[in-house]
Amino acid sequence: MAKIDAAVLPAGYSTQPGHDGVYAQFHADGQLAEVAVHREGRRAAGTWALCVEARQETARAEYTVEMTFPPPPSPSGLIAAAGPRTLEEFVRARLAQIDSQSKSAGPYCSFCAQGLHKVTFLIGGPGVSICGACVQLCREILRENKPRRRWWWPFS
Ligand SMILES: [Zn+2]
Repeated sequence: MAKIDAAVLPAGYSTQPGHDGVYAQFHADGQLAEVAVHREGRRAAGTWALCVEARQETARAEYTVEMTFPPPPSPSGLIAAAGPRTLEEFVRARLAQIDSQSKSAGPYCSFCAQGLHKVTFLIGGPGVSICGACVQLCREILRENKPRRRWWWPFS
């Protein structure tokens, strides 16, 4: 495999994990290992990371989704009320998603984690998918709250 080294990286990247911005890690032989957008010492939510294997001729992209409990407050608080109310509920819901994903081969909704066998349809994007029910929920949010609110977190 041809070596992919620092020459491919954008200006201003850093190899320091605490750096805010593009963070790059290398394998011992100088091969690029990982590139990610970091904020406050970790991968920034809503960004892509690229991981290049050391010996295998493969790479993968990982999209960072941060799911925190309690969820960040939405401007209205209306939607967050539908989410889990305790940490235990949050953990159980996430475990159910992981279990569901482990059993469903193939694509699943990035928002509600239902597999293809459980949804009406899936629309695929670059590394993400959305199901019919989630599209409908988004349509309702847009229809009812069009001009004012910018941040929604209905799946916490
Ligand atoms: Zn969905």
